Amino acid sequence: MEGPVGAFEIIDVDLAGRIAKLHLRNAKLETPAFFPVIDPMRQELGLDLIAEAGFEQVITNAYLAYKRYGPQPRGSIRELLGWRGIVMTDSGAYQILEYGDIGVTQDEILLYQKEILKPDIGVILDVPTGDVSRLEAEKTVNETIRRSQEALRVIDPTSDDVLWVLPIQGGRYLDLVEASARHAANSPYRMYGIGSPTVFLERYRYDTIIDMILAAKRALPPGRPVHLFGAGHPLIIPFAVALGVDTFDSASYIIYARDGRYITEYGVYRVEDLDYLPCECPVCSRYSPRELAEMPREDRTRLLALHNLHVISKTLKRVKQAIREGRLWELLEETARRHPAAYRALLKMRRAHSILETHTPRVKPRVRGLRLYGFESLWNPRLTRLRSRVLTHYLPERLKRLRPKRLILRPLPPSIEACKRGSSEDGYVVYYSPYLGLIPKELCGVYPTIHADYPHNYYQDRVLKVLVSEIRAVLAIARRIGVEAEILGEPDSLCWILSRTVGGARCGGG
Ligand SMILES: [Zn+2]
Repeated sequence: MEGPVGAFEIIDVDLAGRIAKLHLRNAKLETPAFFPVIDPMRQELGLDLIAEAGFEQVITNAYLAYKRYGPQPRGSIRELLGWRGIVMTDSGAYQILEYGDIGVTQDEILLYQKEILKPDIGVILDVPTGDVSRLEAEKTVNETIRRSQEALRVIDPTSDDVLWVLPIQGGRYLDLVEASARHAANSPYRMYGIGSPTVFLERYRYDTIIDMILAAKRALPPGRPVHLFGAGHPLIIPFAVALGVDTFDSASYIIYARDGRYITEYGVYRVEDLDYLPCECPVCSRYSPRELAEMPREDRTRLLALHNLHVISKTLKRVKQAIREGRLWELLEETARRHPAAYRALLKMRRAHSILETHTPRVKPRVRGLRLYGFESLWNPRLTRLRSRVLTHYLPERLKRLRPKRLILRPLPPSIEACKRGSSEDGYVVYYSPYLGLIPKELCGVYPTIHADYPHNYYQDRVLKVLVSEIRAVLAIARRIGVEAEILGEPDSLCWILSRTVGGARCGGG
């Protein structure tokens, strides 16, 4: 189906992340997508190689294009770059951050984009916040808002062939980010960009970036595309996607390469510090770390840049596959194990559970079973939603309505069949299980009640503590409405722990 420029068709979702098709003037872009930054003044890696690494889209800078090709170039930006794919241009905001005032007015740079460069996506000339004082941050937010309104003199975000991005500023001042996003939501712009996280990315402050994304997303309309400027690290991409970021751009692949640095999914290395290359891309399957370290700088830069792009491409593919499978949370847990900064990001995601639960679909045809790795798996929104619903709504209502003679708590049997069969003697059966919590018998087999792959450390303290508190809560509900309760168990350590902590468990007495 053809849509107007800016139409955003969401195809699949998991957590708050989505796979979507973004309609642009030249093509439809599947998101999440990464835009490698192209420098019109100095591009060491050929665009043919960028395409070979799997990228159909690039981003370049309108101000640098103006300097390089002049005010009346011989064609559009695609023709100038010799690129058949999608092109995004930004206006030069980063140059302001780096070099101060750039001597081109916003009207000039916007008209240059709209009428000469004709990119698929364009960005207005915002003022990036960076890591500054609150007063300075407020100024950048207000000035960006003022410019976004002034820009409407020369562009029309509702009907231009360029999809115009409105950047959201505020840096680490989250109320400013939210206010900036609220303004964006009420503007005619149809795509938003979260600005200037680069300073925080460089310091591995992923938790700050998650806060910034959350603050922006709270105020933005959920059905519109969101860009994250300057983010190109495999450790942050899965978290940003999980929060609903759709597109990214970064020059880190080439900046690192110039400096002899090699991106992996768990951190960045100097190539001379590596004995092996943990990658199978065309570069790593052909060269050794030593050959790379010793070759002429120009060749090394090109090859490392190509490898770095392959790693980013692979990360995005894994993220998209995880959305398809409904395993994005599992991927975040896995990513969290790769670097302490990513682990802090996971801790931060835990506090976002309400936004994640709201967006996570209840049913997904391709979902097999939950994979549980450790107590962090308890924060999987699929589980938190199940556990809180069962405990706060489902069980109290059922018990009040049925008024059974007895409430029987039993360990969850290993198969769905045994779970459904259960013994219901003369009571209402609720199964208990570390991780899954309490499962009323009639919910057996309902996703995700029994599809789970358990970790070896099944009886981790923190996991059991949560189970014990839930069992206590259901016993209290039963007591309140005068229903007698009984805990049965296998003669194992779980039952033993329950009999010591909750009291009255009959181990092996089922
Ligand atoms: Zn490689």
